[in-house]
Amino acid sequence: MSDTTHTAGSGPAAGASGRARILTGDTPTSTGLHLGHYVGSLENRLALQGSYDCYFLIANVHAFTTLAEKPAEIRANTVGIVKDWLAVGLDPERSTFVLQSEIPAIAELTFLFAMLLPFNKVMRNPTLKTEIEAKQLGDTYPFGFPMYAVGQCADILAFRPELVPVGEDQEAHIEMCRDVALKFNQMYCGVGNRVPAEEHARAGGLFPVPRAKIGRVARLPGLDGVNKMSKSLGNAIFLYDDAKTVQKKLNKITTGRQSPTEPGDVNNVLMKFVDAFIERGRAEEIKRRYAAGDNLGDGHVKQELGEAINALLEPMRQRRSRLEGPEGEAMVHEVIRRGVKKANAVAEETLFLAKKAMGLDFGRRTIG
Ligand code: ATP
Ligand code: MG
Repeated sequence: MSDTTHTAGSGPAAGASGRARILTGDTPTSTGLHLGHYVGSLENRLALQGSYDCYFLIANVHAFTTLAEKPAEIRANTVGIVKDWLAVGLDPERSTFVLQSEIPAIAELTFLFAMLLPFNKVMRNPTLKTEIEAKQLGDTYPFGFPMYAVGQCADILAFRPELVPVGEDQEAHIEMCRDVALKFNQMYCGVGNRVPAEEHARAGGLFPVPRAKIGRVARLPGLDGVNKMSKSLGNAIFLYDDAKTVQKKLNKITTGRQSPTEPGDVNNVLMKFVDAFIERGRAEEIKRRYAAGDNLGDGHVKQELGEAINALLEPMRQRRSRLEGPEGEAMVHEVIRRGVKKANAVAEETLFLAKKAMGLDFGRRTIG
């Protein structure tokens, strides 16, 4: 244990405003975000950005785990995701947009945290296993692929947040991140083994042990009805899809039901969409009639769903269309530039305090 024990804890991390912090983010593996992101995480970000000091991260380095040979795509996707954030209503004046590749402290913390996680535990991480299967990565994925799970602990802890708004698929990653925070605080900050997680920061731990905040819909299925909706699996409705495309995609959903009078399965993919996007009273009525085979066809449900989803997406499409062209591009770059500066100030402080706790404080650098 380092002789600087007890000196690292800075109490619950809070921004300049005194508000507790949130960190969450998206990987630029596609040109934009989809409905799963919206119900799984974006809705919570929108609800919380007024009361928390929010950091929203674009995991562009992690995009290389599956798209290493397509750097131009990753770059374009990065811009696309920032546009989607702005279109949805994430506000760069109130929140900080973080571009992972410009935050060196994250890479350094990744290496340090890699020592705190048993190799086999990382390899058994169920989210990684599911991704390897769903994305058909076989056994040819790069070393960097499982490393991203460790990197994600650094993405999060670099900002010492209390909350991480994510979809259910990320729960295993957040659990790993909590393990790292607990272990670091115990090993290097003198926090006792019996101190409960929520007391760690007060007990002198550098890292508050962050909690996942799962979205209103924990896991939105994809149009295939098999996997979760995912950017990489071709089963998504994107936030920027036009009204016709949305309806066309919905029309392709198959339930195996033959007629409007056949009793339907209220747990099928179509009904999950009804639950997610149609107002509760009406959704209950649809499900009741669907289950009873009360003359309610899949086609009719898809039409009603299309209307509800398009009503949700229309204002976003309009805001996004204003970001097209060189001016929009310039604005995105400016938002990224400002975010990187703010993010580095926080992440550098975390790295400095972490190194100090580990006896690695031989000098403090300045960035930016
Ligand atoms: P990829 O296929 O490349 O992994 P993705 O669609 O899974 O992309 P991510 O960038 O990995 O998207 O996830 C961003 C956030 O959105 C995470 O918090 C994740 O939990 C959430 N999320 C993604 N898909 C869904 C979904 N289908 N339902 C609920 N939340 C989701
Ligand atoms: Mg994912």
